[in-house]
Amino acid sequence: DFAGLIKKIEAGQDLSLKEIERLLASENPLEVEALLAAGDKMRQKTVGDVVDIRGGIEFSNYCRKNCNYCGLRRANTSLLRYRMTPEEIIKAAVEMRKLGLSTVILQSGEDPWYTEEKMVEILRGIKSETGMRITMSIGERPRHELEAFRKAGANNYLLRIESANREVFKLAHPDDDYDVRVKNIRDLKELGYVTGSGCIVGLPGQRPEHLAEDIVFLRDMGINMVGLGPFLPARNTPFENLPPGDLLMSLKMVAVARLVLKHVFIPSTTAMATLSPDGLKRGLLSGANVIMVNFTPTAFRKSYEIYSNKAVVTLQWAVDLVKSLGRKLPPYIKETA
Ligand code: SAM
Ligand code: SF4
Repeated sequence: DFAGLIKKIEAGQDLSLKEIERLLASENPLEVEALLAAGDKMRQKTVGDVVDIRGGIEFSNYCRKNCNYCGLRRANTSLLRYRMTPEEIIKAAVEMRKLGLSTVILQSGEDPWYTEEKMVEILRGIKSETGMRITMSIGERPRHELEAFRKAGANNYLLRIESANREVFKLAHPDDDYDVRVKNIRDLKELGYVTGSGCIVGLPGQRPEHLAEDIVFLRDMGINMVGLGPFLPARNTPFENLPPGDLLMSLKMVAVARLVLKHVFIPSTTAMATLSPDGLKRGLLSGANVIMVNFTPTAFRKSYEIYSNKAVVTLQWAVDLVKSLGRKLPPYIKETA
């Protein structure tokens, strides 16, 4: 039974794919409530009360891919495209450091303009001027480039599988190869990156059994950071008229990821904040322990439109939220913030 399954995980036993599916498929309000509470309890036990706060710079919205859900896809000609120069990116990181942050996330579309040499220059510049930990989220890259980035100072890398189910993956990715993606994630692990992956909740054709496959994939790959968020429709994309992903299902995924993967970083994502005004807060109450704050220069923010009406998570808002929940701020965030 449901309560028995939660007890089983809490006792340190692995659940089968079917059992994980049973947790995710429940729509019984009492069961769902118990699941989310168990996720929160496991969060407390494994990573404690500190909510990590990380800053993201979305430095380019050019993309050579055509993912059907994403507003940055190359076929979207209505988007105003921008690229930040290495100097602008390093400057944004320096600003972030002044506010106390200790991890910068560099995110972009898959943009070949940033060659290996340019990325290395950016990474070295940020390292020497700020000493911050660097997380990259720039899509697939050949292994030798990932290795060069690692040597130049990159610590973490986020590359979502989006869906671990081949059919769901294929429906959403006209020009991505599932095996190449998995190989890229393996490369990251082998190169010593703290490796992030995750999925979109609410893709076409996706059912609870597929989401259970996602959890097992993340477990088997030994993923250290888990990004989960609802699908949100983006203007001028093939999926623009589809309904958004379900908030409760997204929260159940956060809770199950915490219960199964235990000691990992789980952000409560901007997508949660976009889907519902209290979505990000509810993520933090279901197992999440990280908030990503947006440090993209305001002139570019609106153009990084991966989905429509994207929420902006600011540092002050994040700090106030953490305090209001009685959770702890990391020591690097100045109390005055
Ligand atoms: N291009 C890189 C990549 O795909 O890994 C990094 C940037 S991409 C915009 C970051 C993440 O945004 C993707 O992994 C995807 O999960 C998410 N995303 C894009 N469009 C989305 C949408 N419409 N709804 C929800 N998440 C979306
Ligand atoms: Fe490009 Fe990433 Fe968007 Fe796919 S999800 S279109 S790779 S930015």
